[in-house]
This record gives sequence, structure tokens and C-alpha cells, in this order.
Amino acid sequence: MQKFSDLQLKEQILKNVLNAGYETPTPIQAQSIPILLEGGDLLGIAQTGTGKTAAFTLPMLQHLSDRQFSLMSCEPRALILAPTRELASQIKEQLDKYGQGLKLKYAVIFGGVGQASQVAALRNGLDIVVATPGRLLDLMNQGHCRLNRVEIFVLDEADRMLDMGFINDIRKIIPKLPAKKQTLLFSATMPPEIATLAAKLLHNPKKVEVTPPATTVERINQRVIFVSKAHKYQLLRKILKEESTELTLVFTRTKHGANKIVDYLNMHQIGCAAIHGNKSQSAREKALEDFKSGKIKVLIATDIAARGIDVQGVSHVVNYDLPVEAESYVHRIGRTARAGKDGSAISFCDDSENDALHRIEKLIKLKLPRENFIGVPEASVQSSRPDRPYRDPRAQQRGGRPAPRSEAQPGEKVIHPPRYEHAPKAPRDPNQGPNKPDDKNKPKVGFRFRQKKERY
Ligand code: AMP
Repeated sequence: MQKFSDLQLKEQILKNVLNAGYETPTPIQAQSIPILLEGGDLLGIAQTGTGKTAAFTLPMLQHLSDRQFSLMSCEPRALILAPTRELASQIKEQLDKYGQGLKLKYAVIFGGVGQASQVAALRNGLDIVVATPGRLLDLMNQGHCRLNRVEIFVLDEADRMLDMGFINDIRKIIPKLPAKKQTLLFSATMPPEIATLAAKLLHNPKKVEVTPPATTVERINQRVIFVSKAHKYQLLRKILKEESTELTLVFTRTKHGANKIVDYLNMHQIGCAAIHGNKSQSAREKALEDFKSGKIKVLIATDIAARGIDVQGVSHVVNYDLPVEAESYVHRIGRTARAGKDGSAISFCDDSENDALHRIEKLIKLKLPRENFIGVPEASVQSSRPDRPYRDPRAQQRGGRPAPRSEAQPGEKVIHPPRYEHAPKAPRDPNQGPNKPDDKNKPKVGFRFRQKKERY
């Protein structure tokens, strides 16, 4: 087996890698680092969890660390584009770790926060910018960032960029890069749009494929549990209680669904938090920190927010809702069984999700073991304070009576009676009203109104 010391890395970088606790390079590192140190372009087919970030950051740090000149204001030397704030922050964290003692300057640029500190960092000059496409484009349009001196360009998680609708931003950024540069594109899957983009962007690239697309990691114990929508809450609680879970990442399709699970688990004294697009950056960071440190054992996330989450020790991934896109299943379950550990992926499947399950099994070419769960009636989940019954605060603001606590089962759709009941309309009497038969000679009401209107 290859060692890091065989990879021609600088002594300082080697030291940093060993300090990070890595003993041997992962397959993507072993294959990519020599290609990148020679300066070639690279197409990496790899999902998160394979060690791909170190595969591109280590050679990048090595190239840039020989700098003999001062940095130019607003003109970074390397650009890493990532689809989410979380992923961008994690790449920056890894640069900090592997780049210790190299005296290089990095900054991370993403939206949802003020731009002042990002602009100041760009003005002071940077070796590496890690950015999400939207904010970068915004700062470029404002004249705070120019890409004409970029020596190394990395497009990370290109397939997610496409899913998240960033592909047009990327198409606008690419022409601003110089023709002569080293380019790396990483993607877990290769949909046609990404293949076309890769063909345009990369020059004689070497292809490195570590986990073939559409296969799942073998160390993950996968299973499906059939359950009604209403009993998914209960099933989740049962799993958290009865299985030896360490850290559990729960995926939901919607932000609202994630919030409701938090309410339910809190009601049952299970500490957890949600991360999704409606949460502020600081709330997302806090939730992730608490999860990483083990302060909370359960994190509920939507696909987009979970992108780039890299937490060691996730023992279970629960697909509370099956993803509509089968590829997302592969991304989701890849959050467990990291760094040589085993993991479990449990997928809940209700009546409406059979097609999604079928698509997943077709993609991963595996029929997942099946179980059934039949729940029992349980109290409502609407209150996050078990000691207080749920009251609709809007009803009280309106001065009305608080709404009674719902008797619905958790997750069950509550059908409310209509708020106002109208008496059925009586059929119109032709002898009554403004246009009754003996009013024939008078102008019709509607007609009079039209005449009046025309005069103005
Ligand atoms: P990534 O695929 O880049 O998201 O990395 C997944 C995780 O693997 C990160 O937490 C890294 O710190 C870790 N990692 C990267 N390279 C190695 C290595 N050679 N040995 C052990 N862990 C690693």
C-alpha cells in the first residue's frame, strides 16, 4: 500500500497530513496527487467521504507555496467553487489544517452573510478563494474580484451545482478565467450537462474514478422499512431508542418536515436540531457544531443543506422521506461509514414512495432488505412543550378562541372544517332584482355604470 511519503509532497505538507491523523492516502488521493503535482487537468468521479478534498488541496498547496511575489489585490491565484456554504467552509477548514506553516492566504466567500469582510480579504490579496457561485459572481460584478490570474481552478461537486441551479452562474464565471490554468472537476455522477461542461473545460484530462457512479459503499448496512406516513415519527423514535446509534443524520424532503421532526423529538426529550435553507447561517453552524461535538445526537437535514456535511462518526443515516432523485440516495448514505467505519442506512417508505424506492434499487442495482412497521396511536406532535397543550397563537392574536389541540396522529393530514359556512344560493327569481321584466325600458344597471365610466 502506498504511503503519503511516496507522493512527493513537501515536508511541511507531509507533516500536516500526519498531524491530521492520516496514515495512508485514500484511493482518490493516491491516484490524483501525482497527476496534479505534474500540473495536469483532472476529472474526478468521486463522492464525498472518499478523501477528495485532500486529493485536490494538497497538490494545490504545494504549487502555491513556492510564491516569490506579493499578492495582487482582488486577484486570487486559485479558485475552488463549491455548491453550498457548508461545503465551502469545510474546504477552508481542510486548507487551514493541511496548509499550516505555508504562509498562504485563503478566504471563503458565500452568500447569506455580509460581504464586507469578504471584500476586505479579497482586497488584501489571497492565494486561494473558496466560494459558492452566486456570491462570487456578485462580488465580481461589483469589481471586488477578478479571475484573470487564477492558476488553479477547481469545480467541486459539479453534479450538485447542476441540481441546485448554479450551472448558469458557473457558465458566466468560466469565461472570466484565463485560458492557461490547471483545471479540476469533481462530480459524484456524470449527467450529460456535466459531461459537456467537462469536455469544454478540461484539456487532456486524466480521469480518476474511485467509486463508480451509482454504487453504494459496501460497508453500509442498508434496509427499507415500510411504514405509513403517520407512523414515521414513531418509527424514528423507536430506532433512536433501540438501535445503538451514535450520531444519526435524518433526511427529509421539506424544511417544514424537518421542523416537525424536531418538535416531535424534543417533545420526547430527544435532543436534536434541524438544518435547512430557512435557518440563518449562524443557526446552521451551531447545529452542525453541536452535532459534530456530540452535544446533540440527531441532526435533521434537507438534501441541499446537508450537502458537504462531513462529520466523523455518523453511525446511522435515516431517509425519513425517500429522495425523489435516486442519485441523492447515494449522496445521503455516503455520510455514514466514513474513514473505515461501518454504518447503517435506514429508509422509510410509505405508500406514495414505492416508485422512488424502485428507482433507487434500479440505480444501485440492489434489492434492499425489507421490514414492516405498524405503529400505535399516539398524541399529537404539534406542541414542542409537552407540559402545555398546543394553542394556535394566531387565533389568540385575532382575539378569537385558541384552536383546540389536534387529535390527529403524528404526520396525519388534519382536515379543518371551512371557516365560514355559506347558505346555499337560492335560484334567481326573474321577476325580482334590478332587471326584472317591467324595468325593460329603463337602462340596465350594468349599462348605466358603463356609460358613467366612459364619461371620465
Ligand atoms: P472528503 O471526501 O474530502 O469529504 O473527506 C472525507 C473525510 O475523510 C474527511 O473528514 C477527511 O478529514 C478524511 N480523510 C481524508 N483523507 C484521509 C486519509 N488519507 N485517511 C483518513 N481520513 C482521511
